[in-house]
Amino acid sequence: MKIAETPAGVEGPGFFATSFDKVIGMARANSLWPLPFATSCCGIEFMATMGSHYDFGRFGAERLSFSPRQADVLMVMGTIAKKMAPVVRQVYEQMAEPRWVMAVGACACSGGIFDTYSVLQGIDEIIPVDVYVPGCPPRPEQIIDGFMIIQDLATNESLRRRNTDEYKHLLAKYEIA
Ligand code: SF4
Repeated sequence: MKIAETPAGVEGPGFFATSFDKVIGMARANSLWPLPFATSCCGIEFMATMGSHYDFGRFGAERLSFSPRQADVLMVMGTIAKKMAPVVRQVYEQMAEPRWVMAVGACACSGGIFDTYSVLQGIDEIIPVDVYVPGCPPRPEQIIDGFMIIQDLATNESLRRRNTDEYKHLLAKYEIA
């Protein structure tokens, strides 16, 4: 069984050569540890995604991390009340680079049906988001699809991206040091 795509490189009898970026990208993409920040119904859908039928472990992501410092992907799933927003942000700030963020479901993406004074109208008001997964709730297939996009980002990200002015500018917009 083919477990991971071999990165592009040069091969011949007894050798294979590629770039460091590509090896790191492949390793990262296939061992992403998610931090499930589940506050409501979308979290239940994630539980289904973790079950044997959908088997999230196929993507090397079965090891959930409840410590931000050991997590690679913040998966925000559910309604985020404005009172909860500083907690989401603190969790994000405690994650080490490189870190990715998925907004799972309409509530995390945009506040969903809760267009009220007390609900954050999308987590991208407080932290940068890499992938938005629509739906109320999204099906496990959609969550997996969003995760595979994160895998693509991790595979193809330059090792220097986090030091670029563009990335620093993005964090500065959110006033994240
Ligand atoms: S998007 Fe729908 S299913 Fe998900 S947390 Fe909001 S109300 Fe619940």
